[in-house]
Amino acid sequence: MSNLAYKIDILVIGGGQAGLSAAYHLHRLGLKGGKEFLLLDKSPEPGGAWQFRWPSLTMKTINRLHDLPGMRFAEVLDPGQTEVRAAEAVPAYFRAYEQRFQLPVYRPVTVRLVCGRGERLRIETDHETFSARGIINATGTWDAPQIPYYPGRELFQGRQMHTHDYQRPEEFAGKRVVIVGAGISALQFLDEISRVAARTIWVTRRPPEFHEGDFTAEDGRAAVARVEERVRQGLIPGSVVSVTGIPITPAIRAMQDRGVLNRQPMFSEITPTGIRWPDGREEAVDVILWATGFRSALDHLAPLQLREENGGIVMTGRLATQAARDPRVHLVGYGPSASTIGANRAGGAAAGELVQFLGLASSTSEREAHAK
Ligand SMILES: Cc1cc2nc3c(=O)[nH]c(=O)nc-3n(C[C@H](O)[C@H](O)[C@H](O)COP(=O)(O)OP(=O)(O)OC[C@H]3O[C@@H](n4cnc5c(N)ncnc54)[C@H](O)[C@@H]3O)c2cc1C
Repeated sequence: MSNLAYKIDILVIGGGQAGLSAAYHLHRLGLKGGKEFLLLDKSPEPGGAWQFRWPSLTMKTINRLHDLPGMRFAEVLDPGQTEVRAAEAVPAYFRAYEQRFQLPVYRPVTVRLVCGRGERLRIETDHETFSARGIINATGTWDAPQIPYYPGRELFQGRQMHTHDYQRPEEFAGKRVVIVGAGISALQFLDEISRVAARTIWVTRRPPEFHEGDFTAEDGRAAVARVEERVRQGLIPGSVVSVTGIPITPAIRAMQDRGVLNRQPMFSEITPTGIRWPDGREEAVDVILWATGFRSALDHLAPLQLREENGGIVMTGRLATQAARDPRVHLVGYGPSASTIGANRAGGAAAGELVQFLGLASSTSEREAHAK
């Protein structure tokens, strides 16, 4: 590979909610797109991971999408249009957003490796190599599906798939399906698949915590605070559901009424034809659907050695976006900011702090003063 590297001050990696928010704030702080900052995105189109989500995930069935800073989603889609697929609506919004603020997004470009080179960072991609003074990493989780290991997994003769691969319930017609996981996606799959499958079995490691009533803004803040506390201590963030529980929605009630919400404990073993529990009970299944979440897609940052021995990363800064081991590196959409609202705020905090840290703040305010 050539040693020539394209020099830039700040590189944003990833073009989902978190990356766009960071780019918007860098632009607002007066940095010149293309000269002082750039955004690289691996996805073929605008929309971050939303463009890959299954067709039955609509604006009605998602949790809630928060507006990106500076432009309302309602400008692109009427709030009443709840049946529209999230995989179409959100990408349309992100595309309009990138155009409105003329954000310098280069895609599809995959960042393969980021390593230290003295005072700069070297960023190797499947296209050019870049040399940056700081990075804001916003690569999400979609590319890192998490499947826990159970003995016998490699011997199973049926089909195993993850949330990442789910498309439509019709694929499961007449099949015996075990759905693993206690999150919102697992429940949506159970709802859809139980209508067409020969049999569904729902298993979770811990009994799911359902709660009555809406999830309030206060609940949200408390959940985020707990995850933030974890990452400030260098612990692995943990899933959002592990701190929020599952709200009892009309869809959940309807599942209860249909008798499909029968949670079973986790099996301990996978056989060639099914699953086995610790007491020896067995069930034959055709499909194991792992709705077991994602981890953060950070492998390209491995050379920076940000991780502690336990695998966590000590985070610091106003909203815990700055990697304590290398302050030139911010992670947004990670830990407490792994939601659309969190990603928005984190983008702003990371942009402001990194610009300050790199001493770009004075030049931007000087520039702004000249421009007036
Ligand atoms: C099924 C599902 C439903 C969800 N529903 C909601 C919801 O309703 N409300 C909510 O607030 N949150 C929801 N979330 C969480 C939500 O997706 C995130 O909070 C938010 O959209 C993530 O934004 P992001 O920018 O961090 O990541 P992403 O949207 O994943 O964007 C990351 C981008 O980085 C790119 N990328 C990855 N690796 C590289 C690389 N090496 N080089 C270059 N580019 C790279 C990807 O291609 C992608 O475009 C949901 C998550 C899932 C899995």
